[in-house]
Formats: sequence, structure tokens, C-alpha cells
Amino acid sequence: MKLDAIFKSLDLGPDDLTGGNLAVHSPIDGAEIARVDMDDSETLDGKIACAVSAFSQWRNMPAPRRGELIRLLGEELRRAKDPLGRLVAVESGKILQEGLGEVQEMIDICDFAVGLSRQLYGLTMASERPGHKMMETWHPIGPVGVISAFNFPVAVWSWNFALAIVCGDPVLWKPSEKTPLTALACRNIFARAAKQFGDVPDGLSQIVIGGRDVGAVLVADRRLPLISATGSTGMGRAIGPVVAGRLGRSLLELGGNNAMIVAPSADLELAVRAILFSAVGTAGQRCTSLRRLIVHRDIHDELMPRLERAYQSVAIGNPLDDGVLVGPLVDQRSFDAMQDALVQAVKDGGTVTGGARVLADIYPDAWYVQPALVDMPGQTDIVCAETFAPILYAMIYDDLDDAIAMHNDVPQGLSSCIFTNDLREAERFLSAAGSDCGIANVNIGPSGAEIGGAFGGEKDTGGGRESGSDSWKAYMRRATNTINYSTELPLAQGIVFDIG
Ligand code: NAD
Repeated sequence: MKLDAIFKSLDLGPDDLTGGNLAVHSPIDGAEIARVDMDDSETLDGKIACAVSAFSQWRNMPAPRRGELIRLLGEELRRAKDPLGRLVAVESGKILQEGLGEVQEMIDICDFAVGLSRQLYGLTMASERPGHKMMETWHPIGPVGVISAFNFPVAVWSWNFALAIVCGDPVLWKPSEKTPLTALACRNIFARAAKQFGDVPDGLSQIVIGGRDVGAVLVADRRLPLISATGSTGMGRAIGPVVAGRLGRSLLELGGNNAMIVAPSADLELAVRAILFSAVGTAGQRCTSLRRLIVHRDIHDELMPRLERAYQSVAIGNPLDDGVLVGPLVDQRSFDAMQDALVQAVKDGGTVTGGARVLADIYPDAWYVQPALVDMPGQTDIVCAETFAPILYAMIYDDLDDAIAMHNDVPQGLSSCIFTNDLREAERFLSAAGSDCGIANVNIGPSGAEIGGAFGGEKDTGGGRESGSDSWKAYMRRATNTINYSTELPLAQGIVFDIG
């Protein structure tokens, strides 16, 4: 499918794609594929006001009816899966299968949210006072500002959007300035669902285009009680205090530095496959990418050559081509950051295999690399930093306690795993004294989470949770209600307060 046909099938026309002040490039070959309009302070102000007005209507719509809108969105996403998945590949550089997988994740979260729309449960509590009832109710919180990263250009929006809409909140979405086209396509797909639904208020779903300055305006605006932001730890450090300063709520999904412990009893066949997918998939540009391998000394010399052979077999190339597993890095900045990290790793005593630029003759303006495998003498500072590229640092351990200590001794706390067939080791890794991450797995890699679980991590990863389980609670406010159906007025805590 040609790019023009993709645009057409997603209702993107010259008004969206030409004449704007933000140039959009495809990481596949570096070519400019569109110029879109950016928002300014005036358009932003209007959009926020429109979201506030949409909120006053949408919060009164019964939640199961709100779920119906998301059901229709899920249907439209099923219809648009192929062109949207392709546009994700073109705009972010991930391989087509991963682009399609990302859209599948959007469909899955819509299904989840439809069910959720009938399950926004509150508790009832036993009151200590006779003739009294206590309960909690959940209400929509207000318009939500969503800021997303380039590497999951559409799924992250849908995790937030599907839940926020069934919870009763309008959404203003600022996608990464590197991936505005997939956001405009989602706007159009939602418009199809909204048309069928009928009475969707203006401003329920809006896109805001621009860079960090535009994001900063959303972050500072008191009319947005919740800011859900996905991106680097640096971004989280910049926006967290601003939202906190106005006593707003933030949901932060930030960088990871994810590790796998490979124990002596591990099934190495499984481990090699899991390592390969999680370390080189999406060219190492997932927040959950595997970046650190902590291998028991007894199996190190068997595992590493197998891994090197697997690395050599990986097809690198145009992410739209069949059989390709590793596409390009998003831009030259990412490439430079990767090279700098490898130079530092060598200075720290590491031995690097791979990591060089490839395909520069065919794509002089794009940044394809061989994934790098780095044998490290220990966990130096460069290993503790997240470099958003396919670099896997391998380190040796002798004792599981030391491995877990090394595992947790980084600032980030997103995803983690252990490969072992020893029940005690597995349970120790999952225990309170084990992995300190938001996601901890056994015999499965750190990346590729399902939408049914709560997604997010601790420490520098920001502490937010999105997607499944009870993540919806972040999008609602909780009210505790006490109802007196007696003819007395007993006070709590046994207080007597007689007036006469
Ligand atoms: P980034 O931090 O450069 O940008 C992310 C988004 O934040 C963009 O929309 C950007 O415009 C905006 N932004 C940046 N600084 C801002 C500021 N000061 N105020 C307001 N908005 C601001 O990240 P990126 O390069 O697009 O994505 C890669 C990073 O995102 C990696 O660190 C990765 O681990 C992380 N990530 C985390 C998750 C997760 O769920 N934990 C998911 C995907 C990506």
C-alpha cells in the first residue's frame, strides 16, 4: 500500500498534510512526508475551554452509554487496522507486525473499557453508627491532558483515552512532535465512531500538535485536573513539579532500564528467544526493552555465543519489508546517543559486539544499526542510564541475592524478569525482597505486556499505572458518602455535642 493510499484510507487530506509549520519525517528513509499545523497559545486556550464545556455534558452520560462509544471506536479500529498499522510503521519506524500489534492493543483496550463501563464499582462500608450507611462513589475527574512518546504513537493514547472516556472525562492529546500523523489518523477514526454514536459533545476528543512548549502549556493549566504523560525521565522531572505545584494529579510513565536474570536452571532455548525479542525488537526503542542481562557464571560461556549467533541472524532493514525484524532508529540523535554509550562502555572495560551503522548507502538520511551486545565487567554508570537504542549489557553473577541487588541498583523500575526452573528462585524474585519493578515476570521477557494488567513502574519510571486492573481509578475522583436514615444524629468517635 502506497503512502498516499494509506493517507486516503485514514481520511488525511492536503489540509492536514501540507502547509504547516511542523515537518514530519519517516525514520525509514529520512524523507519529509508531511507538514502539519502546530497549536499556539490561542488555539490551545480554545481547545481547553472546549474540553471543559464537553465535560459538563459528558459526565452526565451514563457510563455504559459512554462504553458504547468506545465499542464503536473498537469496531472502527478493527476496520482501520491495516492502514493505521502501516502508518505507525512509516512514522515511527517500527516493523509492520509491531505497527499492527500496536493497533491490536488499541482494539483490546477498547474491549476492556466497554466491560469496565459497567464495572466502575465503589465499596460499601459498615458504619459504626446505627441507622447509617457508608459507601464510596466514583465520579469523572475532568478533562485529561495526555502527552505521549514517539515509540508507541497510538497505543498509549488509546490506553488513556478508552478509560478516560468511559470514566466520563474529555481528553486533549499531545502526541510526540515526531509522530503527529498517526494522531490525526486516530482523530479521524474516532470521528467515524462519534458520527454513529450521535450525541458526542464537541471537544470530547481533541488533538494538540507541537513540541514540549505546547505540552508545557497543558501541564500548567489548572483546568486539566489530570496530566497523563509518557516519555523520558527528564520529561517527568520537568512536568511532575509543575503539576504538583498546582496540586493537580499526574500519571507518569517514564523511562525503564529493564533486566533479565538468567539462572543456572534456565531453559536457555526459551531465554535466547526472549532476550532477542525484548532486546532488539522495535530496535531497542521500547520503554520495556531488555537492556541488562545478569547471567549466572556457570552458564555465561554457553549462553553468550548462542546469543551472538542469534544476533547475527536478525534481519535489519526497511520495516515494511517481509522478514525484517529490526527497523531504523528514530533519528540521528538516537544514533549519536547509542554510539556515545558504546564508547563509554568500552572505556569502562566492556567488550562490544555489533553496534555499527548499516544500510547507509541505501538510506543515507536514515539510521539503521546492528544491535549491540556488550560484555561488561560490572554495572557502571552507563549501564545504569537508559539509552534508547538496541544495546544489551551482559554481566555475571554468582549468588542470587547479589543478582537481585544488582538488578535493583538502577534509578528506574519498570519491567523485569527471571529465567529459572527453580521454584524458590522464582518466588524470591517476585517477593517483597525481589524485583523492585512495576512488572516482574518469570520465564518470559520484560517487554510485550498485555492490556489486562496495570502497566507502569516505580522509582524514576514515575509510579503511574495505565491500562488494565484498577488503573481506571486515576481517571476518577472518589467521594465517600454517609447517609443517615435514622431519626437520631449520633456523632462519630463517640463525641457528645449537646446544645442544651
Ligand atoms: P520525550 O521525553 O522526549 O517526549 C515524550 C513527550 O513529552 C513528547 O510528546 C514531548 O513533546 C513531551 N515533552 C518533553 N518534554 C516536555 C516538557 N518539559 N513539558 C511538556 N511536554 C514535554 O520521550 P520520547 O523520546 O518521545 O520517548 C522515549 C522515552 O519515553 C523513553 O525514555 C521511554 O522509556 C519512554 N517511554 C515510557 C513508556 C512507559 O510507559 N513507561 C512508554 C513509552 C516510552
